[in-house]
Amino acid sequence: MSTKESKENCVFCKILAGESPVSMIYEDEQLAVFVDLFPVNEGHLLVIPKYHAPYMKDVQAETLQHMISIAQKMNAALRASGLPCEGVNLFMADGEVAGQEVFHSHLHVIPRFRGDGFGFRYDRARHFRQSDRSRMDEIAEVLKNGFS
Ligand SMILES: [Zn+2]
Repeated sequence: MSTKESKENCVFCKILAGESPVSMIYEDEQLAVFVDLFPVNEGHLLVIPKYHAPYMKDVQAETLQHMISIAQKMNAALRASGLPCEGVNLFMADGEVAGQEVFHSHLHVIPRFRGDGFGFRYDRARHFRQSDRSRMDEIAEVLKNGFS
């Protein structure tokens, strides 16, 4: 059955198969880096595994480490490029509710500059309120127990 997570519907696998146009920056055995078709700002890049991996859990740890390492190099390349870039956001949306739209896990590398108008939206009254220590300790315990 074909689902939103399936390889058959995956626009990034089509790119990797040479079936869709792409402005490729870098590729090796594990990953590819290309220019985002719908950029937040010019120079917005995507780092993706070379294999179909719908969610972060499906990406091999070694590939994820390599993705971060390459994102560091792309950050430097953006800062040296002459494109507007005073800072960089790395962003991975894992799951639809987190903003994932293409279900082939990918890391955004987004050049940022003052006044670009991009950013997380939040409600000051609801988010970033100081938590209480006992609840923080409970959360830490839950996550310690689930961590392996
Ligand atoms: Zn894919």
